[in-house]
Amino acid sequence: MTTANLLDFDLEGLAAYCGQLGEKRFRATQLFRWIHQRGATDFGQMTDLAKSLRDKLASAARIEALPVLSQHESADGTVKWLFDVGNGDAVETVFIPETDRGTLCISSQAGCAVGCRFCSTGHQGFSRNLTTGEILSQLWFAEHFLRKHLGKTERVISNVVMMGMGEPLQNYAALVPALRAMLDDHGYGLSRRRVTVSTSGVVPMIDRLGHDCPVALAVSLHAPNDALRDSLVPLNKKYPIAELLDACQRYLAHAPRDFITFEYCMLDGVNDQPEHAHQLVALLQGHGGQGVRAKINLIPFNPFPASGLTRSGNAAIDAFARIVNDAGLVVTVRKTRGDDIDAACGQLAGDVQDRTRVGERMAVQRSIRVQDITLRSREASL
Ligand code: SF4
Repeated sequence: MTTANLLDFDLEGLAAYCGQLGEKRFRATQLFRWIHQRGATDFGQMTDLAKSLRDKLASAARIEALPVLSQHESADGTVKWLFDVGNGDAVETVFIPETDRGTLCISSQAGCAVGCRFCSTGHQGFSRNLTTGEILSQLWFAEHFLRKHLGKTERVISNVVMMGMGEPLQNYAALVPALRAMLDDHGYGLSRRRVTVSTSGVVPMIDRLGHDCPVALAVSLHAPNDALRDSLVPLNKKYPIAELLDACQRYLAHAPRDFITFEYCMLDGVNDQPEHAHQLVALLQGHGGQGVRAKINLIPFNPFPASGLTRSGNAAIDAFARIVNDAGLVVTVRKTRGDDIDAACGQLAGDVQDRTRVGERMAVQRSIRVQDITLRSREASL
């Protein structure tokens, strides 16, 4: 008999499931807290649930996260997991600790259909959408693993960015319940301002997200004009920049933050010249007459061989940032983290998304049980 994986549900979904078992809604809330706040996998542990319900759940349901293929920790504390999603596919999840926050970068698809030129996930093609449970299990596993190893009882992950492998807004039906579980006070209780969906610009879904589950929005822009963006982000041909910025303006009416983050991957000689910076300023400050409230995040490109692209030099990045900053826009340059483990979030990682190599690695690693995986140098301090 196929059992239901309870990681597939937000609280509403779990309440509906419990209803089918003849249970009241407050039982779903208790169960949800056991799963997400306490990381329980064994119904027998859930001592405030009636024995009859625990027995019912034990035969009809399970709490099952994705199998871990590998786990690596960088000298800077960044941790990357590779999760097995079956059929030779794997997705990655990255934890980035900082003094005032802990950020988890989560994948939404195995591969990606958008095919951005600078992105190694895009170069491997699309395999399939992840389910809600597969998206959520990345957070569930990371949070409870890190708590245990840090010896903490309180929350470790304060921020989530949907910025790993895949275009989250092309997996909308699975994404939204996962976001709701992240935000739910009975789940992870994350602030809407601290959960970010990053999109290459799926305009109709930006509007839907604004109505259904407004969280912080990041847009992968990467170019200040349509001709250049068409060549870097093929989705631009369907939803050109003007339509995308219109959608951003509409989104701001619902957004938990008063700006949209625009990501801009710095590619040597392609989009990093002073004229591109001036065009970007004119675009964001002039769109629709009033401009779009924006923060710009410049991302040094993480090169991979098939791209034929190289990272902009530091001088070019600094000059670009200065032009944007001098025009009055907020600009940041993303720090590279976890370089020693190729830990840049999925869309920029130059390693794991090569399917052939994933296949090779998986063949070796399938035999390794999660419990046997040892963290590298800093495990003791985790
Ligand atoms: S950058 Fe994002 S949308 Fe573009 S191919 Fe990579 S994962 Fe897909």
